[in-house]
Amino acid sequence: MVMLGTGHAHVTKCYNTCFALIDKGEVFLTDAGGGNGILTRLETAGIRIADIRHLFVSHTHTDHILGAVWVVRLYLAGCLEQGFTGRMTVSGNQEVIRVLKWLCRTLIQSAYSDLIARHIIFKELAEDDVLQILGRRVRFFDIHGTTAAQYGFEMEYAAGKRFVFAGDEPYRPSGKRFLDGAEWAVLEATVPYESDENSHGHATIRSSCEDAERAGVKHLILTHTEDRDINNRKMLYEKEAARFFPGEVYVPDDLDVFEIC
Ligand SMILES: [Zn+2]
Repeated sequence: MVMLGTGHAHVTKCYNTCFALIDKGEVFLTDAGGGNGILTRLETAGIRIADIRHLFVSHTHTDHILGAVWVVRLYLAGCLEQGFTGRMTVSGNQEVIRVLKWLCRTLIQSAYSDLIARHIIFKELAEDDVLQILGRRVRFFDIHGTTAAQYGFEMEYAAGKRFVFAGDEPYRPSGKRFLDGAEWAVLEATVPYESDENSHGHATIRSSCEDAERAGVKHLILTHTEDRDINNRKMLYEKEAARFFPGEVYVPDDLDVFEIC
């Protein structure tokens, strides 16, 4: 797993939260951040656009969906100019697919967008849909977001071991059956401390740690964080998190790599 971005929507010192799961050279990208910066992150991480087999977009907010337009554009450019012959699946809930289809057809020049039908599979997800991605079962679920319809997923990456991504809003009891017993979980901690009044409905380090602890998560990744003190963010957040989560907890910087096993 490569964390391509780790910030919330308004960050300037890192990229917006998105990550790639990679196996045998194939890439499953989750969210794409807010713009063209996704291309820099992919290049720095050594990820080729041609190897992206699946792009899942969790919800329609700018910091998650706009980078997807760039990924689709570059993929189509590769089809036209570099002979890519494959197809990339782009998945999301009904609203994500409606918006993304419109954005791609409206914003991408026709030389490329005319190739969408041949090279891009838009897959509209419903609750509990299961897809095979990277040769593994991935089940999608509605996190019941309050600001936009939002989905997360669980991937069974090895027998009995699950990786869970629960979006950028606080974990809700409806997601319990997914988070319970997860080996790895990616939760948000947009707001570092309990006293912050600007939470806008986001989780804190403490609330996400307590949710993960109750669910018996083994490895917790906290992301969608702020960048006010980015040089010390990892140290400060991990110290705070250790007070509330007894397992392994990580607050990654952009481009940090995790071995999911
Ligand atoms: Zn966000």
